[in-house]
Amino acid sequence: MKPERFETWLTVDGKGLYCRPGGFHIDPYGGAKRAVVTHGHSDHARPGHARVLATRETLAVMTTRLGAAATKGTQAAAYGEKISIGDVTVTLFPAGHVLGSAQVLIEWKGARVVVSGDYKRGADPTCPAFELVPCDLFITEATFALPVFQHGDAREQVAKLLRSHGQFPERAHVVGAYGLGKSQRVIALLREAGYERPIYLHGALAECCALYESFGVRLGPLKSATGAKREEMRGEIVLAPPSAIADRWSRRLPDPVTAFASGWMRVRARARQQGVELPLVISDHADWGELTATIAETGAEEIWVTHGREDALLHHIQTTGRKGRALALVGREDEDQ
Ligand SMILES: [Zn+2]
Ligand SMILES: [Zn+2]
Repeated sequence: MKPERFETWLTVDGKGLYCRPGGFHIDPYGGAKRAVVTHGHSDHARPGHARVLATRETLAVMTTRLGAAATKGTQAAAYGEKISIGDVTVTLFPAGHVLGSAQVLIEWKGARVVVSGDYKRGADPTCPAFELVPCDLFITEATFALPVFQHGDAREQVAKLLRSHGQFPERAHVVGAYGLGKSQRVIALLREAGYERPIYLHGALAECCALYESFGVRLGPLKSATGAKREEMRGEIVLAPPSAIADRWSRRLPDPVTAFASGWMRVRARARQQGVELPLVISDHADWGELTATIAETGAEEIWVTHGREDALLHHIQTTGRKGRALALVGREDEDQ
């Protein structure tokens, strides 16, 4: 029997990507009957679904960020656990993006489809590493899908932060880092590098850090920057959401060195424009090399691109003899801000 074309059973409707024989959406906009959620970032995990399947960690993130009402009717899946939904089998695999992040394997009539969610291949002490899942159709993100994006080793960027910290003992170092994932990764990398001093946190980051610790991720001594006196933070490292580093909030810090941990820091103009003195190229998304290598390693003959800079990637997919398609899902932000 000729296998059915993927477009006939994986469709895009007003709520996003829909698996017809399974009767569920993946990372839908609010109000889906049944949702499989890849991870807790707000452009993927939205409130208002009747039923949600996700990892235990992602469900905990959703409860923390969206409130208990957002996650009624939930079902937790362990990585590797096979779950029947409608006529398909769904299995979650680590995506290496943030705590609890998962790729979704959908098996139907002998066909294997993997939806990557957001992912990266680089080491991250705060979540299990990306697991390669062979498939026929790979549906990938494309946040950093331009050859200019080569993230390199995050540990070198943290070493750069520590060198600056050693060089300017009279100044505070304020590091802008996304609240879920990036800030905990920066802290864990600092600890790996042997930095054991208390790290000061903007209030907006405390909740996610506590959540990571409740899942056994060691972050070491953390202190609230809100309650700290100005002089106390001299010579210390302070983490804050990106929006706070250029804001009045950071004026309370003693002569701060402004750093920003993001894949976008590869673009110098962007760092300059945002007034970042110490750009740190640390991303939780696959860079160009990781995207193209992963596409090849999955063995998939067909590649769909969900969100990001799809043009260059589609061109690459076609030149390597695969079939490519842009899904152009709306409402996905450049979350790695
Ligand atoms: Zn994400
Ligand atoms: Zn995303």
